[in-house]
Amino acid sequence: MLTDAWSFALSLLSLPLLAGVVGLIVGSFLNVVIHRLPLMMEQQWSKECAEFSGKEDAASAEPDAEPVLSLSQPRSRCPHCGHPIAWHENIPVVSYLFLRGQCSACGVGISWRYPFVELLTAGLFYFCVARWGWTSTAVVWCGFSAAIVTLAMIDWDTTLLPDDITLPLVWSGLIVAALQWNPGVSLSDAVWGAVGGYLSLWGVYWAFKLITGKDGMGFGDFKLFAALGAWFGWTALAPIILMASVLGAVVGVGLKWSSNLREGGYLPFGPFLAIAGLTALFVGPQSILRLVGLSL
Ligand SMILES: [Zn+2]
Repeated sequence: MLTDAWSFALSLLSLPLLAGVVGLIVGSFLNVVIHRLPLMMEQQWSKECAEFSGKEDAASAEPDAEPVLSLSQPRSRCPHCGHPIAWHENIPVVSYLFLRGQCSACGVGISWRYPFVELLTAGLFYFCVARWGWTSTAVVWCGFSAAIVTLAMIDWDTTLLPDDITLPLVWSGLIVAALQWNPGVSLSDAVWGAVGGYLSLWGVYWAFKLITGKDGMGFGDFKLFAALGAWFGWTALAPIILMASVLGAVVGVGLKWSSNLREGGYLPFGPFLAIAGLTALFVGPQSILRLVGLSL
């Protein structure tokens, strides 16, 4: 009887489930990165601007100069009332449910995005370990998933794709292929994927700019697409860009129709590249063509 219960408990503690719990914790950290990295970049830019225009001393001498922000400092606070978030209010998903989605001090709602990012990361980690077991392949794809979720959210919020994430993602894709940790993607597939990803969108950007005189997308999009090429190989570029474009067009038309499009009518492309990349991870790049009805 006891052994039955014991073996049942052990079977619940399967590796993918453990990976899911790790994913919840990583997702909680990603929420911090998504919130703070753009603010840190902004601080860095204004510092550089001040240095460039020779106002550095004046800025740092100001008594109410903003404290320097990092991923670990200062502690997380409620953005509404400044209430410091205690450890027991910071447990992924559980605290959100326990607090009923409200700050314990001021009662203002906490965005559903926090538990969403945690659950999404948990689901992706679960999937990677369920598929590849406890292998280096699973671990590197967990890392890829975490980076993609972060990039998609930051781009949606700020229309920025930070180089601090896109460039390491390109390099790590090439290294993972060189180490042969990525089944089905050789080093040459990965190199041509990265080159093709970057140059194809770079070409589209310049063609669009020459014809319309406008910027159709940002340089971050080229780097993200290069990263997807490095991780999935050059053969995945066409299915991924096709899916991202279709999704972007559908959502763009939907937002325009419901007049929810933000000022300037600009829709970031990164989140759609990210969704296409995660779909390629789940079903394989070639199955995307079948999903959009272009079976080859
Ligand atoms: Zn509050």
